Amino acid sequence: MVSLPYPGLQEQTRERTRINPGSVHVAIEGLCKRYPGQQTDALHNVDLKISRGEIFGIIGRSGAGKSSLIRCLNRLESPTGGSVVVDGVDIGRLSAAELVAWRRSTGMIFQHFNLLSAKTVRENIDLPLRVAGIAPAQRQRKVDELLALVGLEDRQHAWPAQLSGGQQQRVGIARALVHDPQLLLCDEATSALDPETTRSILSLLRDINRQQGITMVLITHEMNVIHDLCHQVAVLEQGRVIERGPVWQVYGDPQQQTTQLLLNPQHGRLPEPLQQRLTPQPVSASARALLCLSYNGQGAAPQLAQLTALLGDEITLIQSALEWVQERQIGQLLLLAARSPQPFSPMSVPANLADRVEVVGYVTAD
Ligand code: ADP
Repeated sequence: MVSLPYPGLQEQTRERTRINPGSVHVAIEGLCKRYPGQQTDALHNVDLKISRGEIFGIIGRSGAGKSSLIRCLNRLESPTGGSVVVDGVDIGRLSAAELVAWRRSTGMIFQHFNLLSAKTVRENIDLPLRVAGIAPAQRQRKVDELLALVGLEDRQHAWPAQLSGGQQQRVGIARALVHDPQLLLCDEATSALDPETTRSILSLLRDINRQQGITMVLITHEMNVIHDLCHQVAVLEQGRVIERGPVWQVYGDPQQQTTQLLLNPQHGRLPEPLQQRLTPQPVSASARALLCLSYNGQGAAPQLAQLTALLGDEITLIQSALEWVQERQIGQLLLLAARSPQPFSPMSVPANLADRVEVVGYVTAD
């Protein structure tokens, strides 16, 4: 038998969560991973702290190291350096038998669901409980509870092939929760789903996080997943963390070009007709300043009446990309100010009307 106190370990963890929400749950320090035969690290000196009960997203281009990182979090991959400490347990120091027991306290869901096609929904959820030697009455109770949680009571005797993608992922989520994990790892969990189903799965994950306080770490290339679900985000590039922070902050004021392109590929792209007419200075009395007003969640708001009073009632809205992230307004407004032969001074816009003002150039009115 394994020596870890299981399920006593979970009781302790739950108690700590109740007493100490927001404490460090997962501490990743100096994590390196180099695959055999490779010249470079897939992960290089990754340091991250993930708090208990938060939803932590990891984004990056293909090949950035996202899968390697999430697989190091439950030792599906062994790091070549550094440590992963989960709830005080350095998982690199666990024996093979301890690791099997520890993994039960960590759920994982996958892009392609990984359900057993020859087992029904109920049997798929029951299997890990059966393997763990849980008594039949207890198993039945747990499976019923999870079927209700993911809304699949009426499909419990269906085969995976008879389910939609969203329903299959619900089975995957139920199966990941059988041992009441405190940590749930999500590997591109919604990438195979259509947008509407994605929304319903994200909503289920959000409810589970809120109701049960489970810490979630997810990797994704879908920015709406980060936007709609995560509290914190880290950006990986070539195996390194290049940016991290609360989602509103990283969205509202991305520091790295990679992050800007990942979050908003249209960022900085002007409409073609305007681009052709743009000059760096006003060239006539009918020149209009093209302004980019940015909102990065620091408190400024696009008060239209005040902007009109300031920029003239000839003001033209060219593009608007404003949204709410974690209850903060972020994004940009691109607009043309009234005609003026004078260069526009960004300083003339008070801080309550925009967090940042950039004069993109000048366009001469027809
Ligand atoms: P991502 O999930 O962001 O697409 P990965 O973690 O899959 O990135 O890959 C990071 C780097 O490690 C890539 O250069 C990839 O080619 C390499 N890599 C991933 N898995 C292996 C493997 N099993 N063997 C050799 N190289 C690998």
